[in-house]
Amino acid sequence: MRWQQRSAGGGLLFGAAPQRDRRLRAVAGPKVAGWGTLTAIVRCPYCDTEDTRVIDSRPSEEGRAIRRRRQCAICGQRFTTFERASVVVTVVKRDQTSQPYDSEKVRRGLEAALADRPGAEDAVETVVAEVDAWARSGSAVVSSEDIGRQILDALRDLDEVAYLRFASVYKEFQGASDFEREVAALERES
Ligand SMILES: [Zn+2]
Repeated sequence: MRWQQRSAGGGLLFGAAPQRDRRLRAVAGPKVAGWGTLTAIVRCPYCDTEDTRVIDSRPSEEGRAIRRRRQCAICGQRFTTFERASVVVTVVKRDQTSQPYDSEKVRRGLEAALADRPGAEDAVETVVAEVDAWARSGSAVVSSEDIGRQILDALRDLDEVAYLRFASVYKEFQGASDFEREVAALERES
C-alpha cells in the first residue's frame, strides 16, 4: 500500500503507508517509544551492532535533510547518518510511455556528447547535478523533451561542440544543413 501527498514544492511524495508504520511500531514493541526504534536499527559501521544512539540531530542541506550524529552503545564509535525525502519523478517519453526519472541516463547522454572534450568529467557532474535539481524541484511528471532542453541549455554555455553533438541526437539532425542551421543559431546568440 502506498500513500502520496503534495510536497511544499508541488511534487508528489511517496512513502510507506501509515498502516505499515503502525505495524513497524508494533513489531518494535512497547519498550522503545514511537520512532526511536526505527532510527536505532541503523547498524554500527564499526562493529555491526544494532544498538546505536542519536547524540545530535540538526537540519542540513538547507532543511532538505536531517544530519544525525550517532554513537554505538557497544564499541563507542561515532558516525553520521542523513535522512532525506525521496521524491519520485516520472518521465513521459515521446512515444507516451513513462518510466521513473533516472539520472544515469542523463549521465550517459552527457558522457557521449562530452567524449574527448576538455574538462569533460567536471562538466558531466555539473550538468547531471543541474538537471537532477531541476527534475526533482518541479512537478512529479516531466517529459523527456523537457529533460533534453535542460541539458541543451546547460551545454550551450559550457561547450558548443558537446551542445551540437547532443542537439544532433535530441533534434534528430538529418544532414549537414541541420548542423549549419544550429551553428548559425548559436552564433546569433553569442
Ligand atoms: Zn560499534
